[in-house]
Amino acid sequence: MKRCLILAVVLLVTAVTATAGHPVLEAFGLPDTTPLGGLSILRGRNELPPIDGVDVLARRDAAILARLAGDAPDILRKAGWFVVPLNDIPRSVGHKAIKTWTPVTVVNPDIQSMVDRIDWTTIIRTMSKVMRINSRYSTTDGCRAAADTLVAYFTRLGLAAQKDPFQVSGSTAYNVVATKTGTVWPDSVFVICAHYDATSESPLTYTPGADDNASGTAAVMLAAQFLSEQPSTCTVKFVCFAGEEQGLVGSNIWTAAQFAAGAEFAGALNFDMIGWWTDGVHRELEVEVDPASLWLGQATINAAALYVPEMTCLLHIDAGAWWGDHASFWNYGYNAVNHEESWDWGDPDFNPHYHSTDDELLNLDVDFTVQNVKVAVAAIAMLAQPVSTTATPLSLAGPRLFASPNPASGQVALRVDGMVDGASVRIQVVDLRGRIIAESSTAAFGGVATASWRPDPAQHPAGIYMLRLPDHPGVNPVRVSVVR
Ligand SMILES: [Zn+2]
Repeated sequence: MKRCLILAVVLLVTAVTATAGHPVLEAFGLPDTTPLGGLSILRGRNELPPIDGVDVLARRDAAILARLAGDAPDILRKAGWFVVPLNDIPRSVGHKAIKTWTPVTVVNPDIQSMVDRIDWTTIIRTMSKVMRINSRYSTTDGCRAAADTLVAYFTRLGLAAQKDPFQVSGSTAYNVVATKTGTVWPDSVFVICAHYDATSESPLTYTPGADDNASGTAAVMLAAQFLSEQPSTCTVKFVCFAGEEQGLVGSNIWTAAQFAAGAEFAGALNFDMIGWWTDGVHRELEVEVDPASLWLGQATINAAALYVPEMTCLLHIDAGAWWGDHASFWNYGYNAVNHEESWDWGDPDFNPHYHSTDDELLNLDVDFTVQNVKVAVAAIAMLAQPVSTTATPLSLAGPRLFASPNPASGQVALRVDGMVDGASVRIQVVDLRGRIIAESSTAAFGGVATASWRPDPAQHPAGIYMLRLPDHPGVNPVRVSVVR
């Protein structure tokens, strides 16, 4: 009962129009009026080569913000540079919602059971499904074979899985997306994601990419394995991106398409490099959010504290943390969190085998990897809320909620059965963003309470609405479809 109540609190969101400027311009100290056309973030290991069509605007740590022209992006990529274009996205996506996270203090035995079954053997077995391919560099057949492997894996778990093709450096690569539809709040969609492509100094022949990023990919795969075992309240999308090493290409294209199609995401959890730890250096998982995603970072830290107390999390609030696929979600106004082993390239625990043929399984820290994968599974499970298939319903004789007609175009009759005579009950109508749009209080006679709701065509567009009893969190909400 407590769990449902907590979920209801989390889903109460207040929408606000995003008025903040472009986060990356802000992070580089540039005015928000700076034109975005041709702007890219560059990062390389050496000095910027003197090539035509590169106009440097600003630097931040090891990163450069430059306006690129002509074939400069391709030349830089071929020279091993990481090039992230800042898309011409709407500056005010109007998508941001300030949400609050209410801490969960009670262990859910279903989630505990998932976490308890994660060990190093399970992780190696999962990672090796993609690591047995010699190269996962985005333009290679190996990367395309890895996509097929992932689709087969998710499909075997009973999930709807697909490959979304896109072009990178003249080749076709695929983002792999598997979906598990929620049973109570199917339109509350959480994403857990990681990139599965990799690179090295011999990108076309050998890219083990154990830490970067078979480790994060395994977290997504195992989350899918455990969450597919039982129904969950909310929908979860398990997404494996390619084209990350070419500059977040796959995730940028995917989130742009989702945004264009009007998709709503409650939040996305990205995992990128979660298996390396340098002995003697502070041992923690970095949790990176923009200000609007703070609640989501708090949720994963809550999950870690509750289910993996041996792992410390360190929260960073920085809208300019552009260096992972989470930033593609931020660009389109979605809430997202990045999880990684070190905050930046300058960190003393930054993996020295990064982007090399030495990024092998044997270089990973066993306990650190296991604990971080546990955090990933606990966090997405806590957000998606598994529905126990074995527990006895809290009260078989308790209230039940009905709505008719459904679909409705005019007045909807609401009825609550199983009430104690004379007891009053509150009924709420909530839209898919969690906003309460109507509420009424009514008393029961003969065990039945009735009320009605008439959607206002001016304020309540056609679509799905949820009815719920806020004082009876154990009662499943009812979906009402409003048609015009
Ligand atoms: Zn990576």
